[in-house]
Amino acid sequence: MKLIGKVALITGASKGIGKSIAVEFAKEGALVIVNYCKDKEAADDTVNIIRQNGGYAIAVKCDVSVLSDVNAMVEEVVPRFGEINILVNNAGISHIGLFMDMNETDFDKIFDINLKGVFNCSKAVLKNMLDKKSGSIINISSMWGNVGASCEVVYSASKGAVNAFTKALGKELAPSNIRVNAIAPGVIDTQMNKCFSDDDLENIKQEIPMMRLGTGEEVAKLAVFLASDESNYITSQIINIDGGMC
Ligand code: NAP
Repeated sequence: MKLIGKVALITGASKGIGKSIAVEFAKEGALVIVNYCKDKEAADDTVNIIRQNGGYAIAVKCDVSVLSDVNAMVEEVVPRFGEINILVNNAGISHIGLFMDMNETDFDKIFDINLKGVFNCSKAVLKNMLDKKSGSIINISSMWGNVGASCEVVYSASKGAVNAFTKALGKELAPSNIRVNAIAPGVIDTQMNKCFSDDDLENIKQEIPMMRLGTGEEVAKLAVFLASDESNYITSQIINIDGGMC
């Protein structure tokens, strides 16, 4: 087990990639805090899967875009677990549409969750990590943050900002033995892509060299590596997992 005894906070772990990461981390021995925003039933399902597999997890509601909520979540869990060793900033939203159809509210919502959420959660857990001089932060970015996507301009910009945040914070925290990395997935089979029709998805697959979507489990296995001691000399990196697309 690669994460035995570690405490991991995973944001947006009620479904999709976050859920897969929570389940894989628990299989590797981590104690898992399953954050969710709205869908308690789905978060409870993540917790139940982990418990059925013999692991330990709790669900905690919190909107990552609200700093006071994030601080309250961390203040609730740190005394209970003693520490947080791993933070996965996974919670995120996408928005597909023409740039000219996007308004200020759309922009603010995407940046508030995708970037400010990463800022809020990182700041909240770092007090504890800096005291311990140890920790790993993993940000779930996107390949579009590297190369940009038509009709996802603001989403791409938010993930590009997450990439820059990752590289900069990793350098700042390296002397404190805290690693910060990002995973940049390609198209992963989750609810986020349920907006696409079957025909759209077939067309997308034709553009992926591996000719299929990725799975949450595949992303989760990379997250386990980045959270574990096996990646001890890796920090400030953006690691693609996209079937060869970018
Ligand atoms: P998803 O299936 O739509 O799940 C999104 C998760 O984020 C849910 O657990 C949701 O919680 C949570 N969330 C949303 N807003 C939140 C908030 N304000 N506070 C806390 N949690 C919030 O999405 P996904 O596909 O797994 O995506 C996860 C991450 O991977 C995102 O950052 C996304 O940008 C990134 N990504 C996804 C893909 C892809 O193709 N799927 C590709 C590249 C990158 P509730 O259920 O409680 O609302």
